[in-house]
Amino acid sequence: MHGKPKAAFFDFACCEGCQLQIANLEEEIIGLTELVDVVEFREVLTGSAPAYDVAFIEGSITRPEDEARVKDIRSRSKLLASFGACACTGGVNKLKNLRDLTTVRKEVYGDKWNMPHLLTYPTRAVHEVVKVDAYVPGCPINRQEFLTIVKTLLLGLVLKLPDYPVCVECKKKDNVCLYERGMTCLGPVTRAGCDAICPTNASPCEGCRGSVPNPNRNSMKEVLAKHNVPLEAIMRKFTIYALDPEAGK
Ligand code: SF4
Ligand code: SF4
Ligand code: SF4
Repeated sequence: MHGKPKAAFFDFACCEGCQLQIANLEEEIIGLTELVDVVEFREVLTGSAPAYDVAFIEGSITRPEDEARVKDIRSRSKLLASFGACACTGGVNKLKNLRDLTTVRKEVYGDKWNMPHLLTYPTRAVHEVVKVDAYVPGCPINRQEFLTIVKTLLLGLVLKLPDYPVCVECKKKDNVCLYERGMTCLGPVTRAGCDAICPTNASPCEGCRGSVPNPNRNSMKEVLAKHNVPLEAIMRKFTIYALDPEAGK
């Protein structure tokens, strides 16, 4: 590879909050520009390139043209990374998959619901459409974790994300469990790595980093039973970031 690797950023269905995290890297932006030559990034610069060493994808795939575009990007990029919950799991965009698509289209677009460019299909995460080499979880992403994952990826490695739940980080901080305060929290089944930022600030975990691999269903069940919380009371929470609802059973 001559010179710095060429990197490009692309957005699909999302709020663009994760790109903003990168655009706002401030002093850490030097860390990124030392690592890569950013050749495409709509929010930050004009310009394009025919091929990339690494493409970063934000957002979910919701339309046939998205699918064609992400496949084209994949074919022109040596490596591809999903960043943010929308790309990594489908995130909040997958909420629409739980309902009748025509009803959702009518609610959102009114009498224009069947215009050809508005005909979205069920949301998919990026890896459900093309091969993904690395994931940066979160809603939004954590800038430092993003930089670490980029470095690891460029070294030809894949960073192993924590395979334990948010509760582990929460307990290390000696937080009082939010279940003790009458709240419901998805920490027992959510992948750690955020330093339990939400429960530490008295806000329940909503699962933005996705399901922990092999979630301990018994642990979730025990927490719910201990605090007399019926599973149904938290089932809706599982859908916010498309967590595996089986994790709670
Ligand atoms: S993961 Fe969250 S912050 Fe990032 S683009 Fe999606 S909705 Fe926005
Ligand atoms: S359930 Fe939530 S508040 Fe309780 S220990 Fe786990 S992460 Fe912390
Ligand atoms: S505590 Fe949960 S919702 Fe908050 S950042 Fe961490 S994984 Fe996301």
